[in-house]
Amino acid sequence: MDSWNSPAWPGLRIRPQLSKEKIEGCHICTSVTPGEPQVLLGKDKAFTYDFVFDLDTWQEQIYTTCVGKLIEGCFEGYNATVLAYGQTGAGKTYTMGTGFDMNISEDEQGIIPRAIGHLFSGIEERKRAAQSQGMAAPEFKVSAQFLELYNEEILDLFDSARDPDARHRKSNIKIHEDASGSIYTTGVTSRLISSQDELIQCLKQGALSRTTASTQMNVQSSRSHAIFTIHLCQMRVCTRPELVNGEVTSLLDGTQPTTEYETLTAKFHFVDLAGSERLKRTGATGERAKEGISINCGLLALGNVISALGDQSKKVVHVPYRDSKLTRLLQDSLGGNSQTIMIACVSPSDRDFMETLNTLKYANRARNIKNKVVVNQDKTSQQISALRAEIARLQMELMEYKAGKRVIGEDGSEGYSDLFRENAMLQKENSALRMRVKAMQEAIDAINSRVTHLMSQEANLMLAKAGDGNEAIGALIQNYIREIEELRTKLLESESMNESLRRSLSRVSARPPYSMSSSPAPGLAGLCSPAAPVETEASDVLRRAKQDLERLKKKERRQRRKR
Ligand code: ADP
Ligand code: MG
Repeated sequence: MDSWNSPAWPGLRIRPQLSKEKIEGCHICTSVTPGEPQVLLGKDKAFTYDFVFDLDTWQEQIYTTCVGKLIEGCFEGYNATVLAYGQTGAGKTYTMGTGFDMNISEDEQGIIPRAIGHLFSGIEERKRAAQSQGMAAPEFKVSAQFLELYNEEILDLFDSARDPDARHRKSNIKIHEDASGSIYTTGVTSRLISSQDELIQCLKQGALSRTTASTQMNVQSSRSHAIFTIHLCQMRVCTRPELVNGEVTSLLDGTQPTTEYETLTAKFHFVDLAGSERLKRTGATGERAKEGISINCGLLALGNVISALGDQSKKVVHVPYRDSKLTRLLQDSLGGNSQTIMIACVSPSDRDFMETLNTLKYANRARNIKNKVVVNQDKTSQQISALRAEIARLQMELMEYKAGKRVIGEDGSEGYSDLFRENAMLQKENSALRMRVKAMQEAIDAINSRVTHLMSQEANLMLAKAGDGNEAIGALIQNYIREIEELRTKLLESESMNESLRRSLSRVSARPPYSMSSSPAPGLAGLCSPAAPVETEASDVLRRAKQDLERLKKKERRQRRKR
């Protein structure tokens, strides 16, 4: 399963000074280091974040830098959360885009309206892309929820029957956790959305409901947390590169693989947190003080959760998600199955120095959050993926097996085809060697006959010198010479073979019908004596010739002495 650890990205946004602040002569006490995501508060308090957006940053820039990729991730089944933190008036609502001032221009649209536009254009784009590829278009289901957390009470901003006076009555909204650790709610209105405009209308309606209630209750909306959630459910044709690969699909006996679908789900939380200012600053008493304490309770719990998650070195086992409804609702977005961005909003004015400092410190803790992001894929899709991988593996194996059995030219596993190439090469070499052996054999025969011829010529020459030109003797000698040559060849051959062959060779050799000793020619003793018993090999013949020579020499010496 696809997963990775993703930290929460803390970003900082400094809003421009409001006209009121300018009129009242407030000074700017923040400065951003050029080219660095670093902010300097006052003279010496420096903080670094993943993103720092200075006074003049456009809404669009914030969206494309931080949020755009999270919407893309939702299409792949990853959850996402954007949190806006900061004191009241620091620009949280403006940044999230739920203010809905009547005269707001398109350029001033905040994160949520842009995300909605991105989501629906992404849906259209994916449908078009699938159709142009001749594939079944993916199906999308978008639904939305809009909750407000006030005094540890969950309020449903989509509940049209909601009575503003019922704020303090207990709602029947419950927070649950499923087996995989995902958080879900019951008793909450979930609107099924079919278009971008419809979702924008819902957002406006909910935001208005929040403001109206606040006005009627005579408190500011900044005392509550607003959580806008988009659920995306996608059913699409599985795309498997290993099966789309032509070679593998061609093995499927010509049948097209059946179309299979996977279901991906993702939820996107947009959280406009309550103002982070300290209670004493508002000077609230009584009921409002209670509200203030409650609000701080949610933010305090959020801070503690962030700290616990970041404290991995000390092996903090308990993460206090249950300390507040806010942290419980966002449990799987904080260190859970989600990509999280916290945008801290601050005022640049010196009179907000202390609150800005607190916000900067708080956001610094968000860097500790390590989220484990996992694709939300349903169980059937997971099983199908696993089976698919198994099939692909087996097909691969089968292909290798086939390639190993067929002759060369068949494309397959390299191991097998290498074996085939090697085999063919060896066979070729073998037949070439055979040809060579045959040719050499012929050469040997030719050389043998030539040697016989030359030796007989030599013998004839010697006979002529001896003055005895007897034709019959000449023929006899020639026969002997040929026989000797043949024996020599056989001897050489037998030497290169084993002992048994050598013995059988001497047995097979034929004995000449006559002996040289009966008519020894003078001066030919050395040449003729080897012709004695031929079966005792050529060397024996030579040995006897030498003996004859010795005997003749002795005879001569004796005769000399006698003289
Ligand atoms: P919060 O929700 O944090 O209480 P708001 O978003 O309501 O703060 O912002 C307070 C005021 O400041 C609003 O009038 C808003 O229009 C203005 N404001 C906030 N951020 C910006 C900005 N980046 N550019 C222009 N005006 C802003
Ligand atoms: Mg606000």
